[in-house]
Amino acid sequence: MSAVNLLDFDLDGLAAFCAGLGEKRFRAVQLFRWIHQKGEADFERMTDLAKSLRDKLAGRCEVRPLAVVSEHRSSDGTVKWLFDVGGGNAVETVFIPEDDRGTLCVSSQAGCAVGCRFCSTGHQGFSRNLSTGEILAQLWHAEFALRRQLQLPAGERAITNVVMMGMGEPLQNYAALVPALRTMLDDHGYGLSRRRVTVSTSGMSRMIDRLRDDCPVALAVSLHAPADDLRDALVPLNRKHNLDDLFHACQRYLERAPRDFITFEYCMLDGVNDTPGHARQLVDLVQGRSPCTTPGLQIPCKFNLIPFNPFPQSGLKRSPRERVQAFARILQDAGIVTTIRKTRGDDIDAACGQLAGEVSDRTNAKERLQRRREVIPIHSAGSAEAGA
Ligand code: SAH
Ligand code: SF4
Repeated sequence: MSAVNLLDFDLDGLAAFCAGLGEKRFRAVQLFRWIHQKGEADFERMTDLAKSLRDKLAGRCEVRPLAVVSEHRSSDGTVKWLFDVGGGNAVETVFIPEDDRGTLCVSSQAGCAVGCRFCSTGHQGFSRNLSTGEILAQLWHAEFALRRQLQLPAGERAITNVVMMGMGEPLQNYAALVPALRTMLDDHGYGLSRRRVTVSTSGMSRMIDRLRDDCPVALAVSLHAPADDLRDALVPLNRKHNLDDLFHACQRYLERAPRDFITFEYCMLDGVNDTPGHARQLVDLVQGRSPCTTPGLQIPCKFNLIPFNPFPQSGLKRSPRERVQAFARILQDAGIVTTIRKTRGDDIDAACGQLAGEVSDRTNAKERLQRRREVIPIHSAGSAEAGA
């Protein structure tokens, strides 16, 4: 029988496991703190645990790290790790340092089954969900490797923010996601506030409701289009959860959200979704004047415009800078806080949507995307709307 991986448990889970060994909850708290606050994996070094407990643990469990395939550093300080998760699959994790924070971008799946048209992970198809232990092992490795590399003073954290924006659709791996989020938030774990942990989703409305009830952290929704027909083509799950459905879920989420807005991500694709006409449609959409949503349904939101990061098979291009800026201005003039995401880690393929890892695809993603390519309404940049 393989050893139990203690990274698979949030604190309640670990307490239940320890109860099974005849141990009280405070022992689980001590163990949890050794693992997630000190980065310790060797039970012998957990000196305040009774010898009898250390022996029990050593016989049946472990703190199982992920094997590091590679670690790359960008000239801008971004670090990207490739982790082997077995079966020919590898996932990527990216650390993005800024003056006032350190953000870790974490993967939730090996591949992704949603198959968004502009996403490198989507093009690779889907292999499997990561376990809670595999999600947390990314954070565990990065936090303690960075503390050593940056020679941080004892107790100082390297990672202040986590975004579930790596490979995969986190809400399609809900059961593993929630204990991982709880460990990030737990004061005995990583102690991050709810507003510093962000789940990014392509828009699974029912699961947004569940997250609201179980673990409401900051929510980012990948929008990418101002109307259903275009979004159907770019984000296939829009055919099932259309904009009206999604916006109602966003409205319900805001009742419990740690921030009083939703962050909408919008990948800027040359000639596809980036004209002034699209920007105006977007303003109408979030301000309750779109034919796609219930009249009057407004969503308090911020926009994050992401210049498309090209990858070989996409057949798409990044919007020119001036077009992105003009687009941002239209949103800003309508009173919507809008930022243009800086591209980080470009030189090591660590930018949004470039995370490809290795996926032994079980979904024939390539064929599906090849078929879909033909139905995407791609206009040239000089199309009628561009000048509107
Ligand atoms: N599956 C989730 C989270 C992972 S993707 C989601 O879709 O939200 C994280 C972000 O990167 C999403 O907003 C996604 O749309 C964006 N993205 C994907 N491919 C991209 C690319 N090639 N260039 C820029 N952003 C991209
Ligand atoms: Fe999956 Fe997100 Fe990529 Fe879409 S953008 S394919 S949901 S990882």
